[in-house]
Amino acid sequence: MPKGSAMPKGSAMPNDGLTALIDIDACLSEDEKLIRKTVRDFVAARVRPRIAEWFEDGVSPRELAGELGTMGLFGMHLTGYGCAGTNAVSYGLACLELEAGDSGLRSFVSVQGSLSMFSIWKYGSAEQKQEWLPRLARGEAIGCFGLTEPDFGSDPASMRTRAVRDGDDWVLSGSKMWITNGSIADVATVWARTEDGIRGFLVPSGTPGFTASDVHHKLSLRASTTSALALDDVRLPGSAMLPGARGLSGPLGCLNEARFGIIFGAMGAARDCLESALAYAGTRVQFGRPIAGFQLTQAKLADTALEYCKGLLLAMHLGRAKDAGTLTPSQISAGKLNNVREAIQIARTCRTILGGSGITTEYPVLRHANNLESVLTYEGTSEVHQLAVGQALTGISAYR
Ligand SMILES: Cc1cc2nc3c(=O)[nH]c(=O)nc-3n(C[C@H](O)[C@H](O)[C@H](O)COP(=O)(O)OP(=O)(O)OC[C@H]3O[C@@H](n4cnc5c(N)ncnc54)[C@H](O)[C@@H]3O)c2cc1C
Repeated sequence: MPKGSAMPKGSAMPNDGLTALIDIDACLSEDEKLIRKTVRDFVAARVRPRIAEWFEDGVSPRELAGELGTMGLFGMHLTGYGCAGTNAVSYGLACLELEAGDSGLRSFVSVQGSLSMFSIWKYGSAEQKQEWLPRLARGEAIGCFGLTEPDFGSDPASMRTRAVRDGDDWVLSGSKMWITNGSIADVATVWARTEDGIRGFLVPSGTPGFTASDVHHKLSLRASTTSALALDDVRLPGSAMLPGARGLSGPLGCLNEARFGIIFGAMGAARDCLESALAYAGTRVQFGRPIAGFQLTQAKLADTALEYCKGLLLAMHLGRAKDAGTLTPSQISAGKLNNVREAIQIARTCRTILGGSGITTEYPVLRHANNLESVLTYEGTSEVHQLAVGQALTGISAYR
């Protein structure tokens, strides 16, 4: 697409046939529908016209932070401190609409709300909450979450980053890798090993010894900042530790919040691909007729639409369970595994329907497919979630 030109072809408008096939609106309250519409309209107006350019140029949606904050999208399912306090389904629907724009945008909001803000909201002291949550909710400050290290991704329990007591202070040393929002963050939640097990620390970005450098040459999630963090004897006051998080359950509790958003979000990327493929197939003529009229094209559309409907129903079911307080970690693993895996498959199949046109950023499908490679890997790889589901089924842990 010529840079700065109008919205990518074949996306953005809900397809009536696809909407009718599942009629998800029948499961939604008026409030939920309003939130969905508000976010969808925002993405159509503020993201779609520029996302292909941001993706090509490797630009994160940082400039949208104020608007996202004003809309209440940061930490929207949290209560107090200026957070919107919506139900989980509304949060999921917002993630879906954001990811229909781009997974990088949804990642920006997820990391801010579900990882950075949630870690402070759930485990922070009263002072930490008061200092950071209102600013993060308004989008005036950006947060990131540092768990993964260069040598430890799926196995964070083996992390090397250390925090050592020195008088009343803590001194942190180590490195973190693949950290979303790392170089644009004002505060990092950093997980480190202590004598007392793994603990979380709030590290303001200007702290001496703390540096962030961006990962370049990404082929996926290009409209998102991904950074390496270096902690070189970073001295923090005793009050920087998150008092409520002890052991790996601290970061894993945050990851479950973000994974929940992904269960919905991935279906947004899938829907955008389907709408794009449906629109394209209806107008692209080969052998004297629209390619939508060929049985093989219809088989692809029918099969991918069914997987989208099933994924959306699964997301809704898990969303209602979260609102009822019954959602379990293995259910979240099942949802994340299924919906991201199916969304990639949907994106790739839709790409074939667009033929050669499908490989450019003029249409969103290959951008979504490439983005979903990251989504498949972060917040627990598909293999790790298979192992989590396998453990839930058999009672046997196969991680080691
Ligand atoms: C774009 C992007 C953004 C990210 N953002 C963040 C962030 O904000 N904060 C953060 O902390 N992290 C972040 N991550 C890191 C992400 O969570 C890790 O990449 C992920 O956990 C996998 O770790 P790894 O890349 O080291 O792969 P590895 O753990 O080395 O895995 C490599 C392969 O081995 C497989 N594997 C590993 N262990 C097993 C096993 N026991 N059984 C079977 N297979 C196994 C994996 O499934 C995978 O296929 C991000 C990653 C990306 C790509």
